[in-house]
Amino acid sequence: MRITAKIKNEMISRLEKIYHDTKSALNFNNPFELLVAVILSAQCTDVRVNVTTGRLFKKAATPEAILSLGLDGLEEEIRDCGLFRNKAKNIMKTCQKLHDDYADQVPSDYDELLSLPGVGRKTANVVSSIAFGRPAIAVDTHVFRVSNRLKLAVGNSPEEVEKKLQKAIPVEKWSAAHHWLIWHGRKICKARHPLCQKCPLNDLCPSASLLETPIA
Ligand code: SF4
Repeated sequence: MRITAKIKNEMISRLEKIYHDTKSALNFNNPFELLVAVILSAQCTDVRVNVTTGRLFKKAATPEAILSLGLDGLEEEIRDCGLFRNKAKNIMKTCQKLHDDYADQVPSDYDELLSLPGVGRKTANVVSSIAFGRPAIAVDTHVFRVSNRLKLAVGNSPEEVEKKLQKAIPVEKWSAAHHWLIWHGRKICKARHPLCQKCPLNDLCPSASLLETPIA
């Protein structure tokens, strides 16, 4: 099945209709809280991140305040999130840099965001689009999987998928489409057992017949 530009447009249009009112499931009040939440979200559910940050930000919600917790103190606060030692180290280094170089503010420049410890393209794109309103498509595990299964953007790396999504989706929809693809991945196009029979994109999807799980 060849996925033409017309089919891709139809996929985007349906996703938009279904998920138009979705947004990030992470709780935050400012760019710094969003940045910390996204760093914590690697291999951790948004629900768990929200519990962790809800507790953490009551004690320390600025780079300076987090630095004052010390590495051990921060590890203790975030230990419910996976990879907490590594995340704590990166958050401490990032807080130090924000404190020293940016007066405790998160820079809006994409390359400056990328230069922060623990911040890769996905995190920089999320912060860039959600906190600063820049068009960006962050490719997380859901976006990567759904884009490949639909052949909306086929790639072996998140960066490759990101570049192809940018071609397939109009720029004004990039940031919103990131959320549509995430929610479709969470609710329907699940990693292990995609609900192909219930999927509103079933007739357009080249992977539907391969992955369909029979309804008992
Ligand atoms: Fe995913 Fe199946 Fe829907 Fe294709 S038909 S997008 S594989 S749930």
